[in-house]
Amino acid sequence: MSELKYCQGPECHQYTTQDRLKGMKGNKTFQTRRRSNLVFGEFCDTRCQYDWLSKYATQAVNHFGRLKEVKHLTEENAWTKTYDWDRNYENRSYVYRNQITKEQRPLTEEQYHDSNYTLNERG
Ligand SMILES: [Zn+2]
Repeated sequence: MSELKYCQGPECHQYTTQDRLKGMKGNKTFQTRRRSNLVFGEFCDTRCQYDWLSKYATQAVNHFGRLKEVKHLTEENAWTKTYDWDRNYENRSYVYRNQITKEQRPLTEEQYHDSNYTLNERG
């Protein structure tokens, strides 16, 4: 049993779709959507998500902390898991590839799927 939550899109009620039109005859209104499943738990669709971001993104960033300097992804943390196909596209060979140094290291299929296995110093 999941309860319905209101879409947080500030313009949701202004989109005149039939499913938003509710109420008794002569007293109908377009209403904010209610859903048990919402995009990011808050929005009925990506349009309402975008509307919210357009209106509140700067306030939200100021509230939660503005990035004020460049972040760096260093060699030590530039490892990504990938695989190459053989000539006939039948077998994969898994590799760890460093996106900065281009160094490659072999990887087993198990290691490839193991989200805890990493060469990166920080996740
Ligand atoms: Zn909405």
